[in-house]
Amino acid sequence: MKDKKLTGIVVRANDYLESDRLLTVLTIEEGSATIKAKGVRKKGAKLAFASGMFFCGYFEVVESKGRYVLTGATRLYDYSGLAEDIEKYYLACHFIDIASFIIMEKHPDEEMIRFLLNSLHVMTRGNVNQILLRGIYEFRAAVISGFAPALYECAVCGEKTRSTNFSLASGGFACCIQGIETDVYVRQAIEQISESEGRALFSLEIPKESAVKLKNISSAYIEMVFDRKFRTMDKLEGIG
Ligand SMILES: [Zn+2]
Repeated sequence: MKDKKLTGIVVRANDYLESDRLLTVLTIEEGSATIKAKGVRKKGAKLAFASGMFFCGYFEVVESKGRYVLTGATRLYDYSGLAEDIEKYYLACHFIDIASFIIMEKHPDEEMIRFLLNSLHVMTRGNVNQILLRGIYEFRAAVISGFAPALYECAVCGEKTRSTNFSLASGGFACCIQGIETDVYVRQAIEQISESEGRALFSLEIPKESAVKLKNISSAYIEMVFDRKFRTMDKLEGIG
């Protein structure tokens, strides 16, 4: 048995046996990790607070037969409020869905985890432009994963360009083929999302219409680069 401390966020919690839970935790140290939380569904269980979706903190674990078992926990942030607002809840689940796809077991990706946590943090504030935040998150997740869009050199011919015409198929702005016509705000936003770091991203401001355009492109862009459909937001639209 080996003691260890991991820092991360619970992104899935599945009931298991009579009173246990199997947690999927995105950790800074080890990427995605599975942690068994024993007895946490019993009344008054000491570690129940750490065994739910969105719990973010330190996880003390012992390694036993190749599995982690939870022995202690300390809360760092409280994102549980996100579950009280259905739109925020779905957006948070969408962000987690993307991060869970990117972050693999035994493959630490500190930049992606910190970006996820910062994005959730921004969402817990009162007034958030969720459409813009979604556009920022989706594009930035692609950039962090090595799929930065072509910005200043045409995605097709390589000529210098300031075009606002975005080609999904070619992966960026293009001067010489028909793509999606955006505008100067969307272009500037994509430049900033690609180039600036950390929290500066969240102060981005663009007109409402442009935010919608940005989000539509970012959603199609991540499906293209990751070759996968992220369905969480479709479910919300199904409810509404
Ligand atoms: Zn071109």
